[in-house]
Amino acid sequence: MSAPERRPPIAITGATLIDGTGRPPLADATIVIDGDRISRVGPASDGPPPDGAQLIDGRGRFVIPGLTDMHVHVLGPDRWHAPLFLAAGVTSVLDLGGQLPDLTALRASIDAGTTPGPRLLYTGPFLEEGEPYSGFAHMARRVDGAHIEDAIDELADAGVHAIKLYVTITPGTAERACARARERGLRVFMHQQETWGADAADAGVDCVEHMMVFGALAPEAIRPPEPGRLTPFEYGGWMWRWLADVDPRADAVSRLFDRLIAADTALDPTLVLFAARPGAFGDDVGDTSMDDPERTPLLPTLPGRVREELTGRWAERRRAAAGVSRRSADRMRTGWEHLLALVDRFHRAGGTVLAGTDCPNVAIVSGFSLHRELELLVRAGLSPMHALLAATSRPAARLDRADEFGTIAPGLAADLVMLGADPLADIRNVRRIERVIARGRVHEPQALLDDARA
Ligand SMILES: [Zn+2]
Repeated sequence: MSAPERRPPIAITGATLIDGTGRPPLADATIVIDGDRISRVGPASDGPPPDGAQLIDGRGRFVIPGLTDMHVHVLGPDRWHAPLFLAAGVTSVLDLGGQLPDLTALRASIDAGTTPGPRLLYTGPFLEEGEPYSGFAHMARRVDGAHIEDAIDELADAGVHAIKLYVTITPGTAERACARARERGLRVFMHQQETWGADAADAGVDCVEHMMVFGALAPEAIRPPEPGRLTPFEYGGWMWRWLADVDPRADAVSRLFDRLIAADTALDPTLVLFAARPGAFGDDVGDTSMDDPERTPLLPTLPGRVREELTGRWAERRRAAAGVSRRSADRMRTGWEHLLALVDRFHRAGGTVLAGTDCPNVAIVSGFSLHRELELLVRAGLSPMHALLAATSRPAARLDRADEFGTIAPGLAADLVMLGADPLADIRNVRRIERVIARGRVHEPQALLDDARA
């Protein structure tokens, strides 16, 4: 990254600070930014802002850390919209599967300030031991399980920030991959199928993606004999067959969570992805503003390509929903309630929940779908504060970067979002973004959206 240019310090005064640590809000706070770093945070009574500072009046406003989306895919420049993340207050993302040339080029362009965008951390291609699912081959790399250490070393040498294991990785290979990744200082994220349930935790995986881990709660009689051979979509379809029959309070759930929590394996449920299941839910999954692009005030502000894709996807969903029987719609709705209850129970048992969206998977919008993920976490039962932690300090800690971003404290990157209303009173207020500061640069969301649309 190039050296930050000299700019006058920025001082936000009079705002209510929610610093991302979980501490109670601090009223009438002063936050001083010097270059790309935060230099001072405290009550106004600590002293006036530095002479010559650019002042931002924060009275009546709420300042939170820049948000992190822990599950995105770059998928090449056409599908990924870096400025949208910033416009949505997302100042860091973790790409969990993509090709290194795309990722390194985009990161360089963002770091140089050429492309406005979030801090981009990435795993490079996700690793498969078996035949990669053809639809995702462009994000995958097939590896020889007997030499998994070489694959990890190669990625570590290429500068990745974490490792992603995918559906055909077996438990033994996962364990060796995690051991080598640990030696190289890298965390491991897994979209599991072949490695079953809490076996991922036993192998040393740092975070399980989506909610495939709950497959371990399925009745033995319908468990797929070779889950690693199902496509991710087939596996998802299989889950919806039995989720309605799971009791979220059952002992089997406690045993599963005990193993995950004992191993400190986090859960990134990507609720927003499951909520997009065709036709299942109507309005009662929470705020409607992202459910249906024809009702969202966001839609007209999005770039044409994003708008068309979103509208097209929702038309597809409506057609699919029209063919769903009343009974299966009811079962899907019950299964969804169970998923929410499982996420809440995992959180209450002491598990670490992280916020991710899997953007740009179907009907998921760069940046803005993270707001919806936070709403769904609150709907599951997390407090608004815990939902915010899942997108601020918890992601940074999981990536061993708590000293770089994720909270608002002196010495950390100046990544913050100024909101026009209190997100702890109503998590939907994370959408009320007035300004975004990313590594010390001030952005107006509307200007970013206008540029993205041009
Ligand atoms: Zn993904």
